[in-house]
Amino acid sequence: MDKKPKILLIYTGGTIGMRRDAGGTLVPFDFSAMYEEIPSLRRLEVDIEVLTMTPIDSSNVTPDRWVELAEIIRDNYACFDGFVVLHGTDTMSYTAAALSFMLENLAKPVILTGSQIPMGILRTDGRENLITALEIAGARRDGRPVIPEVALYFQNRLFRGNRTTKQSAEELSAFSSYNYPPLAEVGVNIAYNYAAISKPAEVSDNLRIATSLSEGVVVVKLFPGISESILRAILSVEGLKGVVLETFGSGNAPSGEWFMRVLGEAIERGIIVINVTQCAGGSVSMQLYETGVGLQSLGVVSGRDMTTEAAVTKLMYLLGGNRPLEECYRLLEKPIKGEFTPEDVA
Ligand code: ASP
Repeated sequence: MDKKPKILLIYTGGTIGMRRDAGGTLVPFDFSAMYEEIPSLRRLEVDIEVLTMTPIDSSNVTPDRWVELAEIIRDNYACFDGFVVLHGTDTMSYTAAALSFMLENLAKPVILTGSQIPMGILRTDGRENLITALEIAGARRDGRPVIPEVALYFQNRLFRGNRTTKQSAEELSAFSSYNYPPLAEVGVNIAYNYAAISKPAEVSDNLRIATSLSEGVVVVKLFPGISESILRAILSVEGLKGVVLETFGSGNAPSGEWFMRVLGEAIERGIIVINVTQCAGGSVSMQLYETGVGLQSLGVVSGRDMTTEAAVTKLMYLLGGNRPLEECYRLLEKPIKGEFTPEDVA
């Protein structure tokens, strides 16, 4: 009989790790005592080891923390069949997207999950999220991991990590992947959508990771009335290297003279501008309206149907790696980890 898959459970903080103490206050839960808290975990067909990072509210997450997480996964890569990362929901989509780029030749499952209701509350969604994430991280088919990529599991759905957005602060179904189908849907059985899951390179014992992320990235969300002096001030900040421009609808922006001039000058100074839409679903298509064609002629890159989370972290990753500007442009024009739908597929 096959050995049970070995899963490393990495606890980083967030609501999932909270329980009530004797006085009723929410306090962090000790995940190393997880079997006492959730005895049903013993029935899972996986061996679990727990590693606890200093627990934080995920609103405090920084790129340094992503590097720490990537290093933990790299250092334990050869010894484990999969990884489950327990994370606060607020920035889980950013962490999932960042890891998808940073874990360069990943071929094993890295499943992020968390909960909207603390684990120590009876009605918690954390128990199911944790148990199913562990089961998915251990799933194999023909001797290989079913999910060889960074994914996010929440409320019965498994998504490609870099396609997700936190869409509700209230609903238990907190995440959506508007532009890519779920990798799995969980009902009585776990139904994997094999066509949507990435086909990885061979599983090796060595995980190559990126450890340098650029700090020179900003998100600019357009709104009617955005002023020239403010936009100019943002685009002139020292150290700025990349801008995620959140535009209207299918990638449209004001076509006035000053707007085009300020943006064009920034691009000429070597700043990369990538166009993503403010809409939850759908894609940038800069050829559609005159207001998009102008951006294209300036050299703005189409982010197509990429989320802001993926665009920010892809820019941090590409610009942090000391690559020549042309190579960054080349790698922005194609999906490197399935983060957007290329034109010929759409
Ligand atoms: N503020 C918490 C966090 O992101 C919320 C959560 O976990 O749901 O860490």
